[in-house]
Amino acid sequence: MQVCGRFAPSPSGRMHLGNAASALAAWLSARSQGGKMVFRIEDIDTARCRPEYARQLADDLRWMGLDWDEGGDVPGYRQSGRAAVYEDALARIARQAKVYPCWCTRAELHAASAPHASDGTPLYSGRCRGLSDEERAARADRPAALRVEVPDEMITWTDGHYGPQKENLARECGDFVLRRSDGLWAYQLAVTADDAAMGVTEVVRGRDLLGSTARQIWLHRLLGNEPPRYCHLPLLTAPDGRRLSKRERDLDLGALRARYSAPELVGRIAAMLGIGDGSPAEPRELIPLFSWDKIPRQDIVVPPGLM
Ligand code: GLU
Repeated sequence: MQVCGRFAPSPSGRMHLGNAASALAAWLSARSQGGKMVFRIEDIDTARCRPEYARQLADDLRWMGLDWDEGGDVPGYRQSGRAAVYEDALARIARQAKVYPCWCTRAELHAASAPHASDGTPLYSGRCRGLSDEERAARADRPAALRVEVPDEMITWTDGHYGPQKENLARECGDFVLRRSDGLWAYQLAVTADDAAMGVTEVVRGRDLLGSTARQIWLHRLLGNEPPRYCHLPLLTAPDGRRLSKRERDLDLGALRARYSAPELVGRIAAMLGIGDGSPAEPRELIPLFSWDKIPRQDIVVPPGLM
């Protein structure tokens, strides 16, 4: 089966050095296996995303020399236009697991005593799972989120870069949200439904999403889909150890394009990933050099020259 990788950026700002590194690694990994690339725009959070950023993301990827075989900033590949896919996935999930309305407020979820999940969010207590029909009817005039009941069993998988992983969803995460009370689809549902519907077989992304992977693998199984191979990348940090954020404007593609030619920037990013010697390069010239073994597992300090 042909490998299918993906670009899945959120147009909530200009592409950043970290996104560019993830995009380059995803492209090199897929292309070095003779695979194809799908590009979708993850703009479900309509309040944070803007169409002009989506256009700019596509332009920045093209400028770097990264291409794709399917999708882009075109209809059908923007999450904001894919509600029917998510409705269908929700219905299929609800046939396999208990999906229930949850009226808990943010304050209730963050109650001081709530234990915390591995990703730092409060572990959901299951409070609304056991409501009776009468209790539900009494709340029906208020908008509810939809949660899915998770199993008390160990989900195990092997990350393509960080090796064996495990998570017990009931103990470390709790029932999680598929659709928010404001009607927006949750990231976990949208990303899983899309990876399944688009035939994605390989997900390359930052290690900050390692903690979401067990939920996504479990949802893939409920959807009857073979989960993709997940390969997480180390995060980028500033020389003082701080994690880079989108707020660092001097590291967005607008600023970087003003300072470097595309091959100069691509060569430098590749070298941070352990690929090549940092000299200017087109992405396709790096394909034969690419190997996951060369990519560090520790977070990568951005070299002073780039910062
Ligand atoms: N859209 C997410 C982001 O830009 C990435 C989601 C994913 O790779 O699973 O952070």
